[in-house]
Amino acid sequence: MDQCLFCKIIKKEIPSEVVYENDSVLIFKDITPKAPTHLLAIPKKHYAGIHLVPPDDSIIFQQLFAAIGETVKIIGLDLAGYRQVINFGDCAGQTVHHIHVHILSGRDFTWPPG
Ligand code: AMP
Ligand code: ZN
Repeated sequence: MDQCLFCKIIKKEIPSEVVYENDSVLIFKDITPKAPTHLLAIPKKHYAGIHLVPPDDSIIFQQLFAAIGETVKIIGLDLAGYRQVINFGDCAGQTVHHIHVHILSGRDFTWPPG
């Protein structure tokens, strides 16, 4: 079965600028940043969306958000402020079907989002 783009990034078959990595999570720079800081945080386990994660695998959310929390402190986004976005499906503009949290910072963001 063909692997998705982010699974290839996890396996280092496609290069990325890694900001944080542990056994279960990878955080890397978005290739087309939409803000001065634009990172993508992904679980290493492939699921297309958060509602597709079975309850007995919900530890991936703990691992993902713990890694994000650690990373935003390391790079100072806890002081600057940041926005996190998770797109799913066509209406949200999802283009890569592997759970990813966008972490955006370095400018002001409008609310509600477009
Ligand atoms: P989404 O549109 O929410 O599915 O987000 C997918 C994100 O992946 C977009 O912001 C893209 O810019 C980003 N992206 C696509 N290919 C790569 C890549 N090779 N390395 C880093 N980010 C990528
Ligand atoms: Zn994947």
